[in-house]
Amino acid sequence: MAEIQKTLVLLKPDALQRDLLGEVIRRFELKGLKIVGLKLIRLTDEMLTEHYAHLAEKPFFPSLKQFMMQTPVVGLVLEGLDSVESVRKIVGSTNPRNADAGTIRADLSMNVPSNLIHASDSPEAAATEVKRFFKDDELFAYEKITDRYQFGEGV
Ligand code: UDP
Ligand code: MG
Repeated sequence: MAEIQKTLVLLKPDALQRDLLGEVIRRFELKGLKIVGLKLIRLTDEMLTEHYAHLAEKPFFPSLKQFMMQTPVVGLVLEGLDSVESVRKIVGSTNPRNADAGTIRADLSMNVPSNLIHASDSPEAAATEVKRFFKDDELFAYEKITDRYQFGEGV
């Protein structure tokens, strides 16, 4: 049974530098995902050490953190049916050259770390990551007339 979930997305410095913020957000909007949180965030070394803890032993960890601090990033919280998995599918594989055509990373990028987007990879990670970057009063619950079509209730 599908459930309505929130997931955390960061639009990385390459998305900002390449003027792709609108294009990436447009793709999420077209899917029907609801934007319930949206802001610029200046990431710190400390935030990134926590956020990318699973990569702490990798040789590219210091340069990944430097990359993520080059400019502010855009933080998004997206709500939708099984949105964690759905957003990961739209985003595509980590290495954009292996990502399926039609995904954002495959269509718009070629390399790591500059693969445009971070997206939570499990419901547990999403819950932790939404809390990491957004305060409760920065998240908005509201109705859209299209909810009944996008989320499938009341049609
Ligand atoms: N990354 C990198 N080199 C690698 C693997 C990952 O620079 O060999 C970067 C890349 O930007 C990636 C991020 O580290 O998006 C986080 O890695 P993860 O394995 O969590 O991939 P993701 O969940 O972003 O697809
Ligand atoms: Mg990841």
